[in-house]
Amino acid sequence: MTKQLVFFLTILLLLPLMALNQTLLPPPLQHDFLKLTSYDELSSYINEVSKTSGRMKVEIIGQSVKGRNLYAVTFSEKEFAIDQNKLRVLLFAQQHGNEQSGKEGMLLLIHELLKPENRYLFEKIDLALIPQINPDGGEMNTRRNANKVDLNRNHMILTEPETIALHSFFDRYLFEATLDVHEYSPYGEPWEHYGYRKNSDITMGAATNLNVALAIRDLSNQELLPFVFNYLKERKFSAFTYCPGGPPEESYIRHSTFDVNDGRQSLGIQNTFSFIQEGMNGKDDSIENIRHRSEGQMTGMRGMLEYCFRNAGKIKTLVSESRKLLTEPPVPTMVSIQSIHKSNGSILPLPLYSYATGKDTVVNVKDYRPVVASLTDTEKPEAYLIPADCTLLTDWVKRQSLKQIPYIYNPGDRIQQYHIGVIDSIDFEGDRIVNPVVTLQELPVIPAGKKFIRVPLDQLKGNLIILALEPQSMLGLVTYPQFASIIQQEKIFPVLRLHNNFITNHTK
Ligand SMILES: [Zn+2]
Repeated sequence: MTKQLVFFLTILLLLPLMALNQTLLPPPLQHDFLKLTSYDELSSYINEVSKTSGRMKVEIIGQSVKGRNLYAVTFSEKEFAIDQNKLRVLLFAQQHGNEQSGKEGMLLLIHELLKPENRYLFEKIDLALIPQINPDGGEMNTRRNANKVDLNRNHMILTEPETIALHSFFDRYLFEATLDVHEYSPYGEPWEHYGYRKNSDITMGAATNLNVALAIRDLSNQELLPFVFNYLKERKFSAFTYCPGGPPEESYIRHSTFDVNDGRQSLGIQNTFSFIQEGMNGKDDSIENIRHRSEGQMTGMRGMLEYCFRNAGKIKTLVSESRKLLTEPPVPTMVSIQSIHKSNGSILPLPLYSYATGKDTVVNVKDYRPVVASLTDTEKPEAYLIPADCTLLTDWVKRQSLKQIPYIYNPGDRIQQYHIGVIDSIDFEGDRIVNPVVTLQELPVIPAGKKFIRVPLDQLKGNLIILALEPQSMLGLVTYPQFASIIQQEKIFPVLRLHNNFITNHTK
């Protein structure tokens, strides 16, 4: 062997190590958690790292209100989202700009995933990470985006560029498992007055809306959540079920809202294996304890990836079968449009921190309502007909990227129209919202001279569409001020229900 050849082979052997040495530390480790990572630092870090990594790529999925890039970082053994056998997982953080540890934790996660010992994950997973979906809020350290909109209440009406970007990214790849990463603040005055506050490093919850496939909700609660909680505890992070509400004795504790306008349920309602994770925020949105907070967030996300890796096949099958229930021509089925949180008699042992003793303790919560029960169901029609001149609704259809076609009347079409009577109100998780009295009438013919677009329900967002368009839906468009004008007392509701007796028999 010549000297040159030995030299050449040595270099070849050392190359991977040299590449590893070049791996940049993520910004939180670069500045040792003494400050938060800015948008500029985040963007230069991921762009720099992606240049040298074979597995990681950066994609710009949209722009914020102020024109900042919304980045997705993808990881794949080969090319992202080409191999249909891979489980597609999406994690996204910092919808709320003042919840910084999700982004910091995701930067730590990127660093972890670049390590050779974690490469095995990508034998089964194609992963996308969005570390900062609200960069404008992140830079200002505010909950809302630059339009002062709470993005995590915007997934139904989709008026903001950030939520639109997230959903079009989701729609493009149809991720099978998702996690929306947040922080919770336990420091409120009612809690201080109560003498205790929540103190779990990480809380995590699954989809709770009744129209999410039961099999998905069951696997979430029976397997994934216990797995991740255990994963966290083994790594010295306290973990508990995501349960907003309280303090006990003042207000009940539930497993969060069943509304589908947030990051978890808007994807869950499409029969995605979908979760929320909340780490504990610093007092007054400060960077207090930011290292521990970020590491906790990272560990929760890593735990979820571990579960997904170990159960990739099972999740893929479950999601695929559950989605077929949505995308195949609808069979007669009932959809819950009004629900309520109920007790099942159980008592919740809630881990809390005592202001008096400075120690952790457990308080048994009696007013605990873990069950979501339906108050009102409606029969799933085959499609809704939306007046073509109602731009408020047709624009919403476009923003949601719904399947739609101009409607042509067929003999045999059964069309139903709502007449709105008195508009009463109903309690929805502590708020009063509209609750109209409605009567459903059969229309003998389509209203003369009116054009409609047909929005069929055999699509992934089928159940979301029902929840949006039914006038009595607690989660409906009519409950948003922007859409309030479409419902009026003693008037006809503009959206019609269509049942076509022939359509259920068609072959695909
Ligand atoms: Zn949040």
